[in-house]
Amino acid sequence: MTPDGSDPIPFNKPFIAGRELYHISQAVLSGQLAGNGQFTKRCQEWIESRCGCGKALMTASCTGALEMAAILCGIRPGDEVILPSYTFVSTANAFHLRGAKLIFADISPDTLNLDPASVAERIGPGTKAVCVVHYAGIACDMDAFQSMCAKHDLILVEDAAHAIGAYHNGKPLGSFGALSAFSFHETKNFISGEGGALGINDKSLVERAEIIWEKGTNRSQFFRGVTDKYTWVDIGSSYLPSELITAFLYAQFEQAEEITRRRLDCWQYYRQGLAGLESAGETRLPVIPAYARHNAHMFHILLADGKTRDALMAYLRERGIMAVFHYVPLHSSPMGLSMGYRAGMFPVTEACSERILRLPLFYDLKKTEQDRVLGAIRDFFGQP
Ligand SMILES: *Cc1c(COP(=O)(O)O)cnc(C)c1O
Repeated sequence: MTPDGSDPIPFNKPFIAGRELYHISQAVLSGQLAGNGQFTKRCQEWIESRCGCGKALMTASCTGALEMAAILCGIRPGDEVILPSYTFVSTANAFHLRGAKLIFADISPDTLNLDPASVAERIGPGTKAVCVVHYAGIACDMDAFQSMCAKHDLILVEDAAHAIGAYHNGKPLGSFGALSAFSFHETKNFISGEGGALGINDKSLVERAEIIWEKGTNRSQFFRGVTDKYTWVDIGSSYLPSELITAFLYAQFEQAEEITRRRLDCWQYYRQGLAGLESAGETRLPVIPAYARHNAHMFHILLADGKTRDALMAYLRERGIMAVFHYVPLHSSPMGLSMGYRAGMFPVTEACSERILRLPLFYDLKKTEQDRVLGAIRDFFGQP
């Protein structure tokens, strides 16, 4: 309980769509609990049709999907991969594990997405791939990245962990890159506790993707009758989720439209409620470019500086409201520093990381709770 007796408002509350346990019981009764059964296939078909991916493979996490993507890019030690410093560690680890040299680039101050100009400056003879991250489910400037990658013959990868159900000029995110990675971690819009998927839009990569997915064996081809032996043919690992996971996830997909609609309502309510503070110059609200249709993955505000952000975060916490910061820039992390990066190299990333605050946003968030969040923020700034 908070000092005034009201219940705390968590930052996130996992949403249960309703049929999760029913689908899990179906999986149990069917007798197939390992991966690549009927629920894995149903989830893959759903992603292929809704996200426009040529082929989808379910994974145990988005981290696993990114690792598969890095293998499929054919990264050799020393190849350069350009990515934002303002992202989750898995975007970087996946390529680092293959021996890539990580070339961080800065973000745009409006969308917090990779800045095409910053990426263009870093393309050189050693560049092999560019990995964009659609932050908060708001599309990156895909026209710019697609033409840049085509011109320099680079592989485009989308970290679409936030971005399922979001679009760029009417085309679903995850359908642009040669490869894309989705997350169903419990903090994302559609969840299975842990979970992910790899989208494969470059047809020439599908066969190898299935092999890597099946621990480096040609098991998928064997079951399709394409080959008469089931054997070790390439590198790979255990990326497949169990049917229990995809059975749970399928129940979320069944409610996908409703989940996104409800999140968008919450998002819009925050936006309206904070418009006055933005006009007064106290905060900056999310910027949605004309080409982007977002999925309300997150509602974030940018405060004037880090001190104001920390003070507001503490102020809300005292009132039982869990608002949180986000990524610590990777270039200034201990790993980033060990790669030769230094604080100060990416000014927009550093400023946004210090100034950002994410507000509670989840399916079951009530209007009265949002009113409490909005009221507390206005009180902090002494605004009516
Ligand atoms: C959540 C997230 C991931 C990792 O997702 P997991 O499914 O937890 O492995 C990767 N990239 C970004 C941008 C994320 O937000």
